[in-house]
Amino acid sequence: MNNDIIIIGGGASALMLASLLPKNTVCIIESNPKIAAKLLISGGGKCNITNTQMGAEYFLADAHFVQPALRAFDENALLTWLERQRLTPVLRKETQYFCKNSAKELVDIFSKEVKKQKVLLDEKVVTVSKRDDFFSVQTDKRTLTSKYVVVASGGLSFPRIGASAIGYEIAQGFGHSIVKTAPALVGFTVQKEQFFFKELSGASSDVKMTVGCTVCEGSLLFTHKGLSGPAVLDASLYWEKGIVEIDFLPSFSWKGIEGSKKQISSLLPLAKRITKAFLVQLELEDKPFYQITSAELDKLQLLNHYTFAPAGTFGYTKAEVTKGGVSTDEVDATTMMSKKEEGLYFLGEVLDVTGRLGGYNFQWAFSSAYSCFKNLRGKIV
Ligand SMILES: Cc1cc2nc3c(=O)[nH]c(=O)nc-3n(C[C@H](O)[C@H](O)[C@H](O)COP(=O)(O)OP(=O)(O)OC[C@H]3O[C@@H](n4cnc5c(N)ncnc54)[C@H](O)[C@@H]3O)c2cc1C
Repeated sequence: MNNDIIIIGGGASALMLASLLPKNTVCIIESNPKIAAKLLISGGGKCNITNTQMGAEYFLADAHFVQPALRAFDENALLTWLERQRLTPVLRKETQYFCKNSAKELVDIFSKEVKKQKVLLDEKVVTVSKRDDFFSVQTDKRTLTSKYVVVASGGLSFPRIGASAIGYEIAQGFGHSIVKTAPALVGFTVQKEQFFFKELSGASSDVKMTVGCTVCEGSLLFTHKGLSGPAVLDASLYWEKGIVEIDFLPSFSWKGIEGSKKQISSLLPLAKRITKAFLVQLELEDKPFYQITSAELDKLQLLNHYTFAPAGTFGYTKAEVTKGGVSTDEVDATTMMSKKEEGLYFLGEVLDVTGRLGGYNFQWAFSSAYSCFKNLRGKIV
């Protein structure tokens, strides 16, 4: 079966590309029984589509690689495209655009758009090879051929909804290098010294978390496995191994409270159970603040720069994304085409481009799809 363009994967980037391209030019191959499985569960079911604050600085990636695509199809271009499809995302948390009621609003748009294309569901791509000018895409059901193959198969996160290593395998087959992959936007497991975190399961607090030179602000959630919540997920993007620092009292001032008769656990703006757990760890008594010695105060102020080394992360089963991937040194930044193999393209998360929490990964999926579209539309008759 010969096709104009074969797209491997039926997720965010694939669906945007197939929507933009003319009718009957695309064959999407998706291993799930339905398209867009990840979109549906994203953003707590409401899909955080994009962000008003956009730029290379919000990505763990080579800035020179991500900039052209982000500029060619930025958050405003995306919002305009969505408006044209009668979807008006709503702004939450000041900068993040979400679907108003459900991610299904966006999935319905893509479902309608890709009706004009061929979509093979429940079909898994196994290998891709090339002979003369044509790629041969082997699935578990048939062989398809095409002059253009777009790898939009995502990363390794959330294997229960179809994630696979096929994108990396195809890339390697054509001589591409893969930047080491790891789970990201994911919670941290803890070592013995921090097992007391698990007893705080369910408690949360606004924190500032520092990994290397990067500061991540937002909510931290104690869980039965360790730490989660937006600030932790963001921090995991920058963490390899080693120490992280948490400021549990980012907006609290120690000035002017010297004479306070309040108990420490009542004075500090943290859930009492959190303060009490840290007091035990710091070997401090919960007592009226004015009774605290300067040595004890020094200890207590460790809450502003609590350091520890996570044991690891919750892994790919819980990670929202995979960092690392197909090296962007070997992919053209304006077209997403391989510099090693004419006609082979890589989009979205399979590339070594990972966004922070806040809609950056979908924006990247859509922006990279747009760059690929601009190149491919001139090639198909
Ligand atoms: C729980 C969760 C919540 C998230 N929330 C957000 C959010 O709110 N905002 C945001 O920006 N990002 C979010 N993300 C990240 C975002 O979903 C991804 O970065 C984005 O979907 C990547 O798009 P993609 O097209 O590269 O890959 P995907 O959307 O992952 O699509 C890849 C597709 O390829 C298919 N596939 C894989 N292997 C094969 C094969 N061998 N044959 C055929 N098909 C195959 C997969 O089944 C999948 O459908 C979230 C992720 C998760 C897991």
